[in-house]
Amino acid sequence: MLKKTIVLLPGDGIGPEVLRAGAAILRECAQEFGHQFDLPEYPVGGAAIDAAGDPLPPSTLEACGKADAVLLGAVGGPKWDALPVGKRPESGLLGLRKGLGLYVNVRPVRLRAPLRGISPLKPERLGELDLEIVRELSGGMYFGNPEMYSVPEIERIAAFAFARAEGRERRLCSVDKANVLASSQLWRRTVNTMSQVYPAVQVEHMYVDNAAMQLVLRPSQFDVMLTSNMFGDILSDESAALVGSIGLLPSASFGTGAPLFEPIHGSAPQIAGKDMANPIGTILSVTMLLRDTLGLGIEADWVERSLDRVLASGFRTTDIAEPGAQVIGTAAFIDHLRQEMQSTLAHAERYGWGV
Ligand code: NAD
Repeated sequence: MLKKTIVLLPGDGIGPEVLRAGAAILRECAQEFGHQFDLPEYPVGGAAIDAAGDPLPPSTLEACGKADAVLLGAVGGPKWDALPVGKRPESGLLGLRKGLGLYVNVRPVRLRAPLRGISPLKPERLGELDLEIVRELSGGMYFGNPEMYSVPEIERIAAFAFARAEGRERRLCSVDKANVLASSQLWRRTVNTMSQVYPAVQVEHMYVDNAAMQLVLRPSQFDVMLTSNMFGDILSDESAALVGSIGLLPSASFGTGAPLFEPIHGSAPQIAGKDMANPIGTILSVTMLLRDTLGLGIEADWVERSLDRVLASGFRTTDIAEPGAQVIGTAAFIDHLRQEMQSTLAHAERYGWGV
């Protein structure tokens, strides 16, 4: 039995809608497995600007700093677009990453079996798509012009990516623009030096323009992709298109402070408040939290099996609906998932796994 505090940061737009799914799952896990999860909620982004005149109020950062983990929805929206760059909702998120010392962002890109049909790629091109993007989160073009990286900054993110590759298929593709950027040349040299420490991992270097193309031509060639802040941001949105919707992908950020879990999408202002947001990216962010940070693999498997059963039953949010699918809203999707979680638990014996 675990006793943990997970700070919830709903944020803006569809953030609060998808975060409801995350909170519901955490409550189910606590109830069924006897854990105690405290889930205090704090404002961030535009909501925090409106409430406190600051996209990252000190009380929010302080609560996150003391938490075991943080779960975020999304920030931003047209209401705050006219504000100067440092005062916008997005600066609250950058401040949070900095305040928590987060420098690694992991974005798994995996096709869920019931959703193979929604990828825009032909099945023969798609193959068994299962890759991870390890994105540097604390430096690069987001924080310096021209882009700057130091050797220790590259070493710590590369060490994370090598370790991740060791736990998977032991293939690491480091993506850079070393033919143009001095920062990329340092990046490549440092990754090569580090590779001597991880002889079991096969290392390949790829220019970012080629990587963008290869992702579409043959995505299954990749195992772990290691890249900088800006390139990782762009390549992960491209990867989201491969699986069919940006609403499907989760992420986890790690560093020196509390880890942060969030779907990779933004606040999607066009669909906010319309009960149309896909909550799966948030649901899978919660399973990363359960598995990677709390060590609750059985609980995470339980949620993912139940999710696949909801999808196998044909339920879809609008963004992932094939012709003939049963289109439902965000709230109904969460209800179906909770029901499926109960029924999966009741039939755990039948599915051959012990709870
Ligand atoms: P976005 O990810 O919000 O939306 C891109 C497209 O994907 C839109 O068509 C949107 O409707 C759709 N979409 C996104 N999430 C979805 C979901 N869960 N279900 C169904 N459809 C979904 O990106 P954007 O439009 O470039 O940015 C909108 C706002 O979000 C901006 O203010 C931006 O700064 C902010 N943003 C925040 C984050 C974050 O909080 N981490 C990340 C990216 C963008």
